[in-house]
Amino acid sequence: MRTPIIAGNWKMFKTAGEAVSFVNEVKGKAEIAGVESVICAPFTALPALAEAVKGTSLKIGAQNMHWEESGAYTGEISGPMLQDLGVHYVIIGHSERRAYFAETDETVNKKVHAAFKYGITPIICVGEKLEEREAGQTKEVCRVQTEAALQGLTAEQAAQAVIAYEPIWAIGTGKSSTAEDANEVISYIRERVAAVFGQETADKIRIQYGGSVKPSNIREFMQQPDIDGALVGGASLEAASYIQLVEGA
Ligand code: PEP
Repeated sequence: MRTPIIAGNWKMFKTAGEAVSFVNEVKGKAEIAGVESVICAPFTALPALAEAVKGTSLKIGAQNMHWEESGAYTGEISGPMLQDLGVHYVIIGHSERRAYFAETDETVNKKVHAAFKYGITPIICVGEKLEEREAGQTKEVCRVQTEAALQGLTAEQAAQAVIAYEPIWAIGTGKSSTAEDANEVISYIRERVAAVFGQETADKIRIQYGGSVKPSNIREFMQQPDIDGALVGGASLEAASYIQLVEGA
């Protein structure tokens, strides 16, 4: 019922030219009926990527955006600027942005609202730190982050959003959560969405797992009933590996 979504998060990697070469390699191969395939690239690569994906089913995403439409915010990029490029998705609240760029639950929520205002689907990242996991706080951390991020949305908007459950200790470390543990947390996040927005919204919202997903483990995650795809960093950078991830979904 929910279309699986594989999103590559390229972080601060690839020039515009490298991004276009990547699309030329994955075109036709990372396009599989019934799976949504999204490339979240640095801002500088987005105009070239927007051209390169024309005529394909590949979608493009940004990795951040500001919540204001314009203004004196040096170095920032707004929703209308992304909309103008034809960007479909935007990652909001990635743990690297929360850790290094002072993003808070409040700014995440503002950005989520701004994304919807400009017709861009947010991929909202939530997840616990290692010490929070060890203290048994995983579900509570995810509940607070999810509810804060979705606050003030309509049920229809919440149903369209994508949540990426990314345990921070699993990002870029090679240590992934077990598929069962990830499913348990994701199913809890879905329950919380149901509590706030109703069961119909919870049944529609897509919730990905992220954290050291690679071609060798994608299928384990995808076999879980509540996991609707993956947000993938390192393993999304190589065309061959990205194609296998989409195939695995
Ligand atoms: C990410 O950047 O969101 C991520 C999950 O990274 P990696 O796949 O490299 O752990």
